Amino acid sequence: MCTSPRFLPYGRQIIDDADIQAVVDVLRSDWLTTGPAVECFETDACAYTGAGHGVAVASGTAALHAAMFALDIGRGDEVIVTPMTFAASANCILYQGGTPVFADVDADTLLLDPAAVEAAITPRTKAIIAVDYAGQPCHWDKLRTIADKQHLALVADSCHALGAAYKGRRVGTLADITAFSFHPVKHITTGEGGMAVTNDAALAARMRAFRGHGITTTARQREKSGAWFYEMTELGYNYRITDFQCALGSSQLKKLDGWIARRNQLAQAYDAALAGSAVRPLAKRSAMRHAYHLYVVRTPERNTVFKHLRAQGIGANVHYIPVHMHPYYQELGYKKGICPIAEAAYETILTLPLWPGMRGEDVERVYTSVRQAEKHGDISC
Ligand SMILES: *Cc1c(COP(=O)(O)O)cnc(C)c1O
Repeated sequence: MCTSPRFLPYGRQIIDDADIQAVVDVLRSDWLTTGPAVECFETDACAYTGAGHGVAVASGTAALHAAMFALDIGRGDEVIVTPMTFAASANCILYQGGTPVFADVDADTLLLDPAAVEAAITPRTKAIIAVDYAGQPCHWDKLRTIADKQHLALVADSCHALGAAYKGRRVGTLADITAFSFHPVKHITTGEGGMAVTNDAALAARMRAFRGHGITTTARQREKSGAWFYEMTELGYNYRITDFQCALGSSQLKKLDGWIARRNQLAQAYDAALAGSAVRPLAKRSAMRHAYHLYVVRTPERNTVFKHLRAQGIGANVHYIPVHMHPYYQELGYKKGICPIAEAAYETILTLPLWPGMRGEDVERVYTSVRQAEKHGDISC
């Protein structure tokens, strides 16, 4: 029988006493939702990313949906998106009745390939959604040039990249709208939660209204002014986030830089340990601050290595099944073969555990297991 050592997940939150106290303080206050902690978190996130406006919402997916709404994506509009991502990056286009158009990725980084984007543009194209896959910023200069030339909106799904930077510019300021997620496996957490940031006040106002049914004022504004009157001017949703979640977010944000430094340290330890092996990390671009949401390697023996790691209690994972290959997208008519680089990469990619609470011996346990599997196949049982 295999012994079962402590299960090591691929990602996990860190919650300390200050986080818990911040949440408890809000629970004892007057406002559990639409209160001051929401604005406070938005201000904190703007200060951190350098963006002008933040709209905190119920999830990263809601932030992407709000972005599509604010950019007026609708029926007949095409939005170019990477397939090497979580389904939410493309689902947000469908929510608005738009059409996702998948463009392929670079073979070495698995980031959206600007040349593929250019080739996918048609007269119906309205926007590009690029994902800072694994925490590494995309080719933002090239994407910006293409977007400006073709009058397209540029959206960053930076759910992997809070805290990353590109040529000295912070993620959050590189696209017209940037979406972040605060799910527990991401860099900071609010349980569920997300935020859209932008430098455009009009886009921010539309996303803010969208978060609350398209209603023009919030409960707190009405309480302050003593007026009951409000108007619903657009069809929005209830995508609000609570004040206690936002208090947690603000408290977590204070620790983000230390956590990203730790993620980079652990990634370097993996890099060094795997050097010369057939298990190769993804290429890292120069002049970037990598946020290392994921540590992704490629190996022709992916399934064997995966099985071996799982049998050893190591939560290896695969990010991602290309979006257009999911049954739902297949039924919409997306064919296998439209993004051959992403599809081939999918067969060989493996995510190794990486989160800032991991110890040096955890990393050692992972790479020792990887090298074992590489030498002997799955020898676990
Ligand atoms: C996590 C994630 C999302 C969705 O965020 P939720 O907060 O889970 O809704 C979207 N895109 C990418 C790339 C993600 O990793």
